[in-house]
Amino acid sequence: MTEPEPSTTPPRIHLSPPDVTDVERKLLLEAFDSNWVAPAGPDLDAFEARCAELVGVRHAVALSSGTAALHLALIAAGVRRGDTVLVPSFTFAATANAVMYLGARPVFLDSTPDSWNVDPQIVADELRGRAVRGHLPRAVVAVDMYGQCADYQPIVEACDRYGVPLVEDAAEALGATYRGRPAGSFGLAGVLSFNGNKIVTTGGGGMLVTDDGSVAEQVRYLSTQAREPVPHYEHRTVGYNYRLSNLLAAVGRGQLQRLPRLIEARRATFEHYRAALGDLPGIRFLPVAAYGVPNWWLTCLLIEKDDFGVDRDDVLGALRDANIEGRPTWKPMHLQPAFRDCVMRGGPVAAGLFHRGLCLPSGSALTAHDRDRVVAAVRGAATGKRG
Ligand SMILES: *Cc1c(COP(=O)(O)O)cnc(C)c1O
Repeated sequence: MTEPEPSTTPPRIHLSPPDVTDVERKLLLEAFDSNWVAPAGPDLDAFEARCAELVGVRHAVALSSGTAALHLALIAAGVRRGDTVLVPSFTFAATANAVMYLGARPVFLDSTPDSWNVDPQIVADELRGRAVRGHLPRAVVAVDMYGQCADYQPIVEACDRYGVPLVEDAAEALGATYRGRPAGSFGLAGVLSFNGNKIVTTGGGGMLVTDDGSVAEQVRYLSTQAREPVPHYEHRTVGYNYRLSNLLAAVGRGQLQRLPRLIEARRATFEHYRAALGDLPGIRFLPVAAYGVPNWWLTCLLIEKDDFGVDRDDVLGALRDANIEGRPTWKPMHLQPAFRDCVMRGGPVAAGLFHRGLCLPSGSALTAHDRDRVVAAVRGAATGKRG
């Protein structure tokens, strides 16, 4: 028996859409009605306090984006024009862009296949080599890729040995842990993002988290146009307008209340995909390192054409035909025209992840029916049957 052709295209399944409810709506309207419609207010204070508590640090400064938080974290780390900053190549461009804003240069480092995060051995080797030549970088940035922490023990050890500050780009990793310690709590400062596609969203926003009171103070000051505490407008340095709105912080407060459920939903999706696709030859899921627990932001996998039969782009095509949004994994920074003049250290891991890697729809509001459609599209691609 053949099913009749559906007369309309099935509804679009997005990669990681916002998941907001009456909890967020109520808090947003309360903030609105209180007239705290400004980049200041009680929701902002409460949102910061809760983030600091979740990450297990003393201070949090809410900012307009994760990119703004990276920019200010690098300033706090002392990065200036002409400096060098070590950055993983396999990341979203924002990590490297923030280095460029300061007139500094990223040196890109390759990933380890074990977690797709920066290879700690390459971090240590690069620092040792630069120490010998007397050219230490001003800072190291580590990224917690797709919601899984980098391997911080050896990275922190290497940074400490040479006295180089570490910044943790935990934009994708709120709620993950490394050896029991929360993502965002490593190094001089951590960076969170509340962009629309992240596990917790404010519709756009970010946060700098730190244990260092002077870093928090400096970042707060720089994010509010570097105004001196005098009655007139006095500025001793150039500042930025980087504070988060109180209205958006209200949305963020609601999201944080639901964070355990948001993580659980994404974990269940990962488990489902692994159970439903894991038997196919040529599929390799992003490995879960034994040192921590991810927040399962996105389920990612590699398609090995020789075993799977078709390549990653064919699978993306099959998803597209079924009105499902899949994405290739990040294109490494050393392959981006914007960074063509930058140095790359290490082997071909990041490039290989990009050419074979695929992110599947992983939103926390994904239904069982949505998951089945995704699985059917991927399995269909393997057997050459599309749609
Ligand atoms: C999303 C993201 C950022 C940037 O955050 P925005 O809030 O979008 O500015 C930075 N780094 C990584 C790894 C990200 O995924």
